[in-house]
Amino acid sequence: MPKIAIGAGHGLITPGKRSPDGEKEWEFNTKVVTAAIRFLHEFQSIEILRLDDPSGNTDVSLVTRTNKANAWNADILISCHHNAHTGKWGKWTGTETYTYTGSWKQAEKLADLVHNEVVRAYQLKNRGLKKADFHMLRESKMPAILIEGAFMDSTIDIKRMRNPQVLEQVGKGIATGVEKYFGLKKKISSPVKSSDVTYQLKQSVPGFLTAADAKAGKNKQGTVEAGTYYIFNQASGMINITAHKGIPGSWINPNVKSSSLSFLIKIKADKLWYYDRPDWNAKKSTVKKGEVFTVVDTLSVNGSKMYKLKSGFYMTANPNYVEKQ
Ligand SMILES: [Zn+2]
Repeated sequence: MPKIAIGAGHGLITPGKRSPDGEKEWEFNTKVVTAAIRFLHEFQSIEILRLDDPSGNTDVSLVTRTNKANAWNADILISCHHNAHTGKWGKWTGTETYTYTGSWKQAEKLADLVHNEVVRAYQLKNRGLKKADFHMLRESKMPAILIEGAFMDSTIDIKRMRNPQVLEQVGKGIATGVEKYFGLKKKISSPVKSSDVTYQLKQSVPGFLTAADAKAGKNKQGTVEAGTYYIFNQASGMINITAHKGIPGSWINPNVKSSSLSFLIKIKADKLWYYDRPDWNAKKSTVKKGEVFTVVDTLSVNGSKMYKLKSGFYMTANPNYVEKQ
């Protein structure tokens, strides 16, 4: 089970470490780390230890950070920073990733995999892999890397850093690099399924094979009768309801308005057949001119339109015999 120690450099209270406009480095760093952790949680069997204070209220010392990671026996350590050159606005730019001086194959492999992803996310100059005698790299027992994502005193880089979607993508890039390093597998997604939650369907509605069809109202597969169902699954505001718990049912759109589904018809013919089933041979009996019925569905039977009535019987939809109210 890979153990990943990750931290955002500094804290909110750290002196210096600001863009020329006063933005704090930790605020950029934490957005990257928070996103990375969220994306890492999509993978199976990993453990994550965050080394900085997620509230930013304390600047956890470097010694505390490496002690924590070492005591926890982390397999890798990732430290997320943003760079500064002069502290005044300039045109320097780019992304660089550090490992400890000398040769350390595993750290270099991790740095390479993560760096390629984060460079792609920042879309700034690739300043490459570098070596440095930084505390976080030197004192960590496990392969450790330090990312200087972009320059917070760069008029070029700050535009990317101020875009939360960019920092989100950088976090995702870190997770992808770690995924490749360990060969991680995605968790099997488990949306709400087979729940005990029941759903009261007050009237019959169209049923669909997929949530997308239900949303679009396309490729209707039949009618789901009013009644009590279990909720099997939910997606994009659509729900899959089933009479048999644990077995998928039909997708329906819970927002379909009743007025668009049922309407009244009045019999125009002197006498008109109604049917047991959606079958022109299944004559049941007759109704008289002027009687009114509620239609809950319209079907096509042997090329002719048939109404399904609220009573459960069927009747022709031919406007020569019935008229919509
Ligand atoms: Zn820093």
